[in-house]
Formats: sequence, C-alpha cells, structure tokens
Amino acid sequence: MIPYGKQDINQQDIDSVVDVLKSDFLTQGPQVPAFEQALVSHTGASYAIGVNSATSALHIACLALGLGKGDWLWTSPITFVASANCGLYCGAQVDFVDIDPDTYNMCPKRLEEKLTKAKKENKLPKVVIPVHLCGQPCDMEAIGRLSKQYGFKIIEDASHAIGGRYKGLPIGNCAYSDITVFSFHPVKIITTAEGGAALTNQQELADKMLLLRSHGVTRDASLMQGTIHGDWYYQQIDLGFNYRMSELQAVLGVSQIKRLSEFVSARHHLSKRYSEKLASLPVVLPYQLPDTYSGLHLFVIRLQLEDISLSHKQVFDALRKRGIGVNLHYIPVHTQPYYQNMGFEQGSFPEAEKYYEEAISLPMFQSMTFEQQDEVVTALEQVLK
Ligand SMILES: *Cc1c(COP(=O)(O)O)cnc(C)c1O
Repeated sequence: MIPYGKQDINQQDIDSVVDVLKSDFLTQGPQVPAFEQALVSHTGASYAIGVNSATSALHIACLALGLGKGDWLWTSPITFVASANCGLYCGAQVDFVDIDPDTYNMCPKRLEEKLTKAKKENKLPKVVIPVHLCGQPCDMEAIGRLSKQYGFKIIEDASHAIGGRYKGLPIGNCAYSDITVFSFHPVKIITTAEGGAALTNQQELADKMLLLRSHGVTRDASLMQGTIHGDWYYQQIDLGFNYRMSELQAVLGVSQIKRLSEFVSARHHLSKRYSEKLASLPVVLPYQLPDTYSGLHLFVIRLQLEDISLSHKQVFDALRKRGIGVNLHYIPVHTQPYYQNMGFEQGSFPEAEKYYEEAISLPMFQSMTFEQQDEVVTALEQVLK
C-alpha cells in the first residue's frame, strides 16, 4: 500500500537521537531550547514553546489567552478534532465557521456574517482558530482585520503548514495572530515522533505557556511569593500539565528542520506533477490563494461526481483495493457523535459537508518516488474512466 503520508528519517536524524540517548539528559536538557531556537529562526516569531503534541499546544494556547467558561471558540469544521476540542478542555463553548469552497479554509465572508449576528446576540467569540488546511494559508489579512474590529484573539492551527509562507512571511511568524501552533506527528511535514510547538510574539503569552507546559511550577524567584527556602525551592503558581517534549524528540526536530525547505520543495514538485497528470480527469485540483506558498501537507482532490459513474465511496474503495492508501481529511467535526450529542446538526455547514462528500487525499510525502506517484495516477485514471 502506498501510504498517504510518511516520515523521512535519514542517518543524521538517527545519529542525533542516538547521541542524545548517550548524553546526560533525556528530558529537560539543552535540545528543547535548541529546537525552539530553530523554530524562532525559521519563522521570525519571538518565542517558541516545544510541547509533546499540537493538541497540547492548542490547549495551553487557549488557556494563555484566558479562554474559559462562558467564552466561545470558533474554528473550521474541516479540521482534525483537536482544533475544536481545545476549547472544550477549557470549559468554553465551541462553534464553527463554514469553509470557502475554493480554499477549503475558514471563509472570511462567513466569519464576518457570523460575527455580525453574534454581536447582536452578545455571543462574540474570544478565540478564533483558522486552520491552514493542506498547508494552504488562510486569508489571514481578512481574519486579522475582523479580529481588530470584533476583539477576538487568533490561534493559527498550522499543523499542516510549517515551511509555507503568507504574503512573503513564514507561517508561524504570527504577524496576523496571537499564537501559531505546529504539529510534528510523523505524517506532518517534519517530525519529532510526537510533538508540537506554540509560537508567539507576546512575552506574556510565552511566559504563561511555559508555565502551563510544566505543572504551573516555576524556579524563577521573580515570580514567587514569600521567602525562598533554598536552592531546591520551586513554587506552583498556576495549574499546569506535563506537556513537555523530550530531548529525543527535540533533537530529532533540530535535525529535521534543517531539511524543511527541501521537504516542502519535494512536495511542491509532486503537487505540480499531480496537477499536470490529473488535469483531464473529472476532479477538482487544489486551488492556491494568490501570494501564498503552501506547506503542502496534503494533496486533496474533489470528485466531480456528476461526471463519474461511481460514488465517492466506490472510488475510494477501488483506489484502496489497488494499493493506493488514499485518505479523507476530514470528517466535518460538527458531525462527529460527540458534537452531535452537544446539539450540532447535520446541514448546518453546507460547504463543509459538500466537501466531505467529494474529497479524497492522494498519497504525498517527501520521499515519494515518481514511480509511486505514477501508480496513483494510473489507478485514478482506471477507476474514473
Ligand atoms: C495533526 C493535527 C493536530 C493534532 O496534532 P498532534 O500533534 O497529533 O496533537 C491538530 N490540528 C490539525 C489540523 C492537525 O492536522
């Protein structure tokens, strides 16, 4: 089976992890700060906080922005469940903004309409999480303008988008947001096995997230109350978690990020090749927002079902049967049983639901060979003919 995504680990990655295994620190050593520094250098953001997953990063990002009971968090229905669950972790209520039918990202027009309505009902969101689906940057200028007008905070879920650019600036730069989150799960663009990071330009948010990453415990005397008992002393000043990234994960990140631009170019090469080879098939190919460079985590096609004799499921199954590890990103979050039980109804985000009926993620990863890609193309041609 040709997988839809796969990590690319070279000898240098392996050697760097082995070196750390033989070193003094398996956790809480120099590699996490080194990886954070590499993320800062790459993105131009002021601060990066490495954690054990993007899910953890989203959670502490929401907490740092003060999200809590009585607040609203809005995100896109076409995302991994974690982009919405982080609001529920904080006791907030979650709602969704329908997608743009061309970019598949949160639609700024739908967002504006929903904000106008929410303002009248006094239910404006505290936090909005645009998701750069497939690596394609959201219309951050429009969303940033609305955040100023309506007073909400922005967390970019850039789990798919490291290595991409928006209007010339690297994703993660936080020029239009308060916090940006990356995932380093093995299917993503670079990996630390499990891992994530939160980036920000605001020191107050960085300090808060650092504290929450590790139990809310500090050894910084300036943050403590009362007298310091001795050199062993620490204080818990907030309710945090153990969301730390290990040294093994961090050093893998340090090694992987050196090849980031190579990885993203390989994906662009494959994407261009797919677009050329699939041009005459009854599918909608990915659209690219002007003045953006995608991280290209995913290559999603939409079936033009009126020109195909098979159903969406039949096409999917036929490709899998031919050894093509196609996938579907994502099932609209509001249609998940957990969200349906909270009162969300089928039909409430029509563009997202229509997307779900047509979308298929084709295999794409940096080490994919042209032979493998041609196999995918041939299988699609056979199935759709
Ligand atoms: C993968 C992913 C996450 C979660 O990442 P983890 O590192 O596995 O926690 C969140 N949001 C999106 C959009 C993702 O693709």
